Amino acid sequence: MHTLLTVSVKAINNLIQPNYCSICYRRIPFTNQTVFCEQCLQRIKFNLPPFCERCGRSIHDSPGVKGICRECLLSGKQRLKVFYVFKYEDTIREAIHKFKYQGELRLLPFFSSHLVEFYREYIFPYHKIDCISYVPLYSGKFREREFNQAELLAKYLASKAQIQMLKRLLLRIRYTRPQSELDEKQRWENVTGVFRLNPKYKDTISGKTIIIIDDVVTTSATLTACARELQKYNAQVMGFALAGG
Ligand SMILES: [Zn+2]
Ligand SMILES: [Zn+2]
Repeated sequence: MHTLLTVSVKAINNLIQPNYCSICYRRIPFTNQTVFCEQCLQRIKFNLPPFCERCGRSIHDSPGVKGICRECLLSGKQRLKVFYVFKYEDTIREAIHKFKYQGELRLLPFFSSHLVEFYREYIFPYHKIDCISYVPLYSGKFREREFNQAELLAKYLASKAQIQMLKRLLLRIRYTRPQSELDEKQRWENVTGVFRLNPKYKDTISGKTIIIIDDVVTTSATLTACARELQKYNAQVMGFALAGG
């Protein structure tokens, strides 16, 4: 009876406020607990293990040796160790864009639950994490978009996984051009020296392992720049993003 009532309430609610796909705006049946239609859902690609020990991509996508992918072996660049949940393609690419620039907050529960699931499956059993934080926005940019999507994701993960959240751990000290507009070399230059540790954490992060959240990781230049600042204070850092590749 109770279930029947819940279903009817949902059905009525669906008539008043129809459920639609966040990507293509097709109507979704009210029984579906998702924000994507069947077609868009099928175009989601998960990043699956085994992962490259450096860049976090599935080794199957770029076979290398001894847990390091081909690309990392060839580039030889010192990068931060990162993990990510989805491949940055198709539905996920569009969804992150809508979440970030069009404020499609209906996507937050979907993204957050996958972030938590991935953390529990692939990070928590193998690494000891003490605290969690996020890549900060420049304050001017924050006002324009009104929210920091990485902070929202970090908050959710911190509460579900019961990890201490360090709010405003890092400060972005100058405006930088969006990384997506730049080539690889420019991306590394663009974020060098941009992050500063919030002085209030100066004496508290030594010896701690901190996981830093971002929405998308491509070159990992941004997360690496965050890590370099925190490493000056003797913290261990790992990056964790929604999507990458
Ligand atoms: Zn769709
Ligand atoms: Zn790699």
